[in-house]
Amino acid sequence: MSSPSGQLTIAQANSDGADGSRAGRQLPLLVLGAGSDKRSERGVSCPGELPPASDPSLVRRAERARAALGDRAFVLGHHYQRDEEIQFADVTGDSFKLARDAAARPGAEYVVFCGVHFMAESADILTAPSQQVILPDLAAGCSMADMATYSQVEECWENLEDVALADTVIPVTYMNSSADIKAFTGRHGGTVCTSSNARRALTWALNKGTKVLFLPDQHLGRNTAVLELGMSLDDCVVWDPHKPSGGLDPQQLRRATMILWRGHCSVHGRFVGDNVAEVRRRIPGVTVLVHPECVHDVVTAADEVGSTEKIISTIERAPAGSAWAVGTELNLVQRLASRHQDKTIVFLDKTVCYCSTMNRIDLPHLVWAMESLAAGQVVNRVIVDPQTAAEARAALDQMLALP
Ligand code: SF4
Repeated sequence: MSSPSGQLTIAQANSDGADGSRAGRQLPLLVLGAGSDKRSERGVSCPGELPPASDPSLVRRAERARAALGDRAFVLGHHYQRDEEIQFADVTGDSFKLARDAAARPGAEYVVFCGVHFMAESADILTAPSQQVILPDLAAGCSMADMATYSQVEECWENLEDVALADTVIPVTYMNSSADIKAFTGRHGGTVCTSSNARRALTWALNKGTKVLFLPDQHLGRNTAVLELGMSLDDCVVWDPHKPSGGLDPQQLRRATMILWRGHCSVHGRFVGDNVAEVRRRIPGVTVLVHPECVHDVVTAADEVGSTEKIISTIERAPAGSAWAVGTELNLVQRLASRHQDKTIVFLDKTVCYCSTMNRIDLPHLVWAMESLAAGQVVNRVIVDPQTAAEARAALDQMLALP
């Protein structure tokens, strides 16, 4: 509740009072990591004081619901999910692999996606009409995907038409985009890409046209163009959907090869070059391995760059005794560290960096979704309308056909 002074009126949880509250006291907003609000902080370890996050009775209910659903359900677990959901996943992977895995199981009537909304949409596009895709919490979105809305992208395209460039531009959208944006791309003869095949997608697009409109992650677009295709930073311009004409004049658009959408991942975008320097000081001989959604300075300072699947396989193949600082989502880094205890594996940043929207899928939501399905009630189904699905599918098919 806002006060006239602009401060929040909150119950002070870090109180020395018996009930832990002093309701009505005026306090400034707590900056993340500063001060203490025991009732709101999450992801902080408090050994001995709190019950486990996954209550054993909830785990048993999840086991019962999963068993009741049997082969009628197929549970997908994205790599960035917590272990409490991953333990119930029939398969783990990145978003495209999971959608294809679900499509390869047409007998599974319910596809329960422990991931975020655009991933569930992709699964709905790729699976059979008889399959229903369920997202246990519909609020599990993706900040990057949300940075490119359909109306914003349409406006950008109209601007490119106005300056007579649209015929030369091929849209390429990252998998991490809404079905609407994938459909836009399909409708305009473009393709989808993943972080594994972005170089091939850009090469294909630049054979077909002379410029690329890359959506929605500017960093993947820039890193691929500069580090893998040998372009210069000056070949890239950034289209800001919040500025008139994207903040670019026609001359800048004409000179550019890559028109990068001003979007980023709120998780990978947090890493900075100083994190790399700091971990090198702290762990002599460490190899820094980062995701290409990180900013250009981080990627150029790192030793290796790769998709989530590449990060996993690189760590798996690494010799015992080697040391790695990994710049990607924390749940995955923690899982890699616990699975490979013969190696030193640390998170690139010293502060916590979970994907907050991924973490909306928690065990209570998964249990609720599975129990509802077992009881015959379909909840939180994600459906892409047929026309959008067909156009998005064209862009996805183009990705599968990339040379
Ligand atoms: S990690 Fe980044 S790109 Fe992936 S779901 Fe979270 S915000 Fe989106």
